[in-house]
Amino acid sequence: MPDEHPSKCSRIQFEEIDRDPGSRKQICEFPINKQDKIRRAYLKEGSYQPKNIDYSYNNDTHRRRFQPSWFELHSHRDWLEYSPSMDVIYCLPCYLFSKKSIDHPRSDAFISTGFNNWKKVNDGMNCHLLRHVGKDPKSPHKIAVKCCEDLIEKQTSKELENNQLRLKTSIECARWLAFQACAFRGHDESLDSKNRGNFIELIKFTSTFNDKIASVVLKNAPRNAKYTSPTIQKEILHILASNVRNAIREEIGDAKFCILIDEAQDKSKREQMAIILRFVDKNGFLKEHFFHVVHVRDTTALTLKKEICDVLSRYNLYIANIRGQECDGASNMRGEWNGLQALFLKECPYAYYVRCMARRLQLALVTASREVKVVHQFFDHLTNIINLAVSSSKRNDELQYAQGEQIENMIASNEIETRRGANQIGTLQRAGDTR
Ligand SMILES: [Zn+2]
Repeated sequence: MPDEHPSKCSRIQFEEIDRDPGSRKQICEFPINKQDKIRRAYLKEGSYQPKNIDYSYNNDTHRRRFQPSWFELHSHRDWLEYSPSMDVIYCLPCYLFSKKSIDHPRSDAFISTGFNNWKKVNDGMNCHLLRHVGKDPKSPHKIAVKCCEDLIEKQTSKELENNQLRLKTSIECARWLAFQACAFRGHDESLDSKNRGNFIELIKFTSTFNDKIASVVLKNAPRNAKYTSPTIQKEILHILASNVRNAIREEIGDAKFCILIDEAQDKSKREQMAIILRFVDKNGFLKEHFFHVVHVRDTTALTLKKEICDVLSRYNLYIANIRGQECDGASNMRGEWNGLQALFLKECPYAYYVRCMARRLQLALVTASREVKVVHQFFDHLTNIINLAVSSSKRNDELQYAQGEQIENMIASNEIETRRGANQIGTLQRAGDTR
């Protein structure tokens, strides 16, 4: 519904369009490269049909005036417009597209001066409104209407294509960053920031190699469909994550599986629980996949069990198919874990609880080796050597050089294999308890 009074419309960004057909400029008076944009803005607003206003009377003896019911009567394609300032009517499609209006702006009353010969409205076959529309499918008015439809259609398909390309760029950038485990956001993502964060910068980077992408992303995107907001980024990530989970779920099929649970705090100190699934795939290979990470309010056995069950049931993984449970026995979750594994065992007697044997062996070895003097001494010396070597970059370089030579010799004498990623010169690592 148009406003009740002639008003300027500010929705078109570069120029205001005048809604009152009595005072607006002719289309041909706009710069040629802006005309389609102006036309679209008018079409978006629709024909100007103010209702509930006082339509003035003609000065003739019959005291005729414009009847708002004519809007409905001649409503096909909503072409009729009324100008309150001039008390005349116009035709929107013809105003926008009539060849006449371009060639001879003042030639048709419905386009330029406006029509107000009310006597000639609804005057049988002589009705000027009907005559304006014309019977011939190729009447100027009908051609103008067709032009309007074409313009809208052209716009919609073009918009659709641009939106798709823009979204595709965002998805591919998100996929790349997620795969490389890069952060998405920047410290300062404002327009004049030198570094707007990985996500935006990657989109920028992509657009430098492709003009088509460059023409639709970031500053060339409409404000309401940039597809770069944090919400969109999260949404894309959620969809990617759920695709990965579905793929894992498919891989598991009907197989039995183990659940591995670990807990960690995220950066904002929120308690998080990671769920890892371990199973034997269709080809008989043992697989272990990181499946989900869920935020937990607390780490009581009941809460943890509920969260795990929620995730499993969401992916149709049945508790009855659990064949093992594991957790990091050293974490501060250990106490709760005992309660948790008992809860699962109650529901599925085969959900055997396996303590992480590697971790237990490690703890045992560490304790045992402390008691053996030579082992103790060996690690002491090792620590000293490492400290000596890495504390100076010169000594470190020399060590790497020597190491490189040794590897070369060993490769030459076929003592070790060459493969990408294998036998590279590494840096020394400080020995922890485990190492
Ligand atoms: Zn017309």
